[in-house]
Amino acid sequence: MVTAAAISTPRAAGGIAVIRISGDGAIKCAEKVFKPYGKAVSEMEGYTCAYGIIGDGCGGKLDDGILTVFRAPHSYTGEDVCEISCHGGVFVADSVLQAVLASGAVPAQAGEFTKRAFLNGKLSLTQAEGVMDIISAEGKAAHKCAVSLRDGKLFKSIKSVSDRLQTLLGSCAAWVDYPEEDIAEVSEAAMAAELSELSGELSNILETYNSGIILKNGIDTCIVGKPNVGKSTLMNLLSGCERSIVTDIAGTTRDIVEESVRLGDITLRLADTAGIHSTKDVVENFGVRKAVERLGGASLIIAVFDGSCPPDTDDQRLIELLSQADVSEKILAVINKSDKGTTEDWQFMEGRFLKTVTISANDGNSAAIIEAAVREIFLLDNVDLNGAVISNERQRVACYNALSEINAALETLNLGYTLDAVNVVLDNALNYLLELTGERATENVVNEVFSHFCVGK
Ligand code: GDP
Repeated sequence: MVTAAAISTPRAAGGIAVIRISGDGAIKCAEKVFKPYGKAVSEMEGYTCAYGIIGDGCGGKLDDGILTVFRAPHSYTGEDVCEISCHGGVFVADSVLQAVLASGAVPAQAGEFTKRAFLNGKLSLTQAEGVMDIISAEGKAAHKCAVSLRDGKLFKSIKSVSDRLQTLLGSCAAWVDYPEEDIAEVSEAAMAAELSELSGELSNILETYNSGIILKNGIDTCIVGKPNVGKSTLMNLLSGCERSIVTDIAGTTRDIVEESVRLGDITLRLADTAGIHSTKDVVENFGVRKAVERLGGASLIIAVFDGSCPPDTDDQRLIELLSQADVSEKILAVINKSDKGTTEDWQFMEGRFLKTVTISANDGNSAAIIEAAVREIFLLDNVDLNGAVISNERQRVACYNALSEINAALETLNLGYTLDAVNVVLDNALNYLLELTGERATENVVNEVFSHFCVGK
């Protein structure tokens, strides 16, 4: 493949910058720019590095640095790879890249090195996605999921299903193609049993999607409640900083303040709101409108009530609003100010929403109560982050389609259709699985996956 080069480190001042070169001409290219103090670049073995002078290709010196050589196929891309580490200045790194490009390399596209690794069989498509996920992981859970994906946990689980499907298809096809030959007839009962098992396995994998995506991307969360119930105090408790203005005057949190907070290994993307409250105040109403708009898009709504006073008409109005079908399934009701003693009038809330907790936002331990409730709501403890987890929409769709085809095949069998009809449906299922792992993905699918990568990876 043509030799491609890019700066693999961020385009900002730092300790070092790395310029990666990959392709048949990588060694030659590096040789024109880098002069080691020891033996020539062409004589360097794989997995070795050398200290030397980085030149501009026209006799001038750009920097001194380290060259690391990887020989095909033992490199990230599977090709010859040279990595020049220079001082981490934006200008110097750009200049080294320009010198490398002038010596015969072309600029690498987004994700090009990982794409080459995939095309050279070093990684499956899902593992390549894991690489990207490791780079973008912002928290412990997202990172754990990404490492499992990179290690091939999802690939192996899907491959085991597709291998079994392939065996089934093979015996089925032999029976269909050579009915007169002495091939033991495929028992339809055995086939149905195997398909049921495969269906179950894919269902289990698919079920990891919701938790996987939540742990990876965080939960879009809205805190609602009438003024003065303790929304800002709760938000400050969760974020561990004074982000919203807390006052005793009702209605002082006017605008939506966006913030991400980490609750154990979960990220809540929080929006504080001006609360749902009937008032003639224009600024307040603007806040209310935004808050209502925001509710529809959130995955979790934390509805806060002041448990130290009996519910009033504003609380009732909020409860009615939250009982609407499209939002009622996302509500964590928080009865706050338990330190002041909650009135019995709030007992009707128990079981009314997904989960109800009683806390004091002034108490630091309440964050753990909220965390446990969120984990319960999103079934986060049911997922093994070290196992096969579906972590993006592409994987979900392919897995879902394969599962639908397997279920359709089962139905076709139950309806008494012949094996050749079942064969066609199973073939579709196999294609979806091979697309998921990248073993039989179209160029468009592959390009789409790598277009989300950064240049230099
Ligand atoms: P918001 O308008 O809903 O954002 O309410 P704030 O967070 O500004 O709180 C209103 C008042 O209630 C402040 O004086 C807080 O200190 C107080 N507050 C909030 N949570 C608690 C709690 O759990 N217990 C007690 N005693 N006071 C609280």
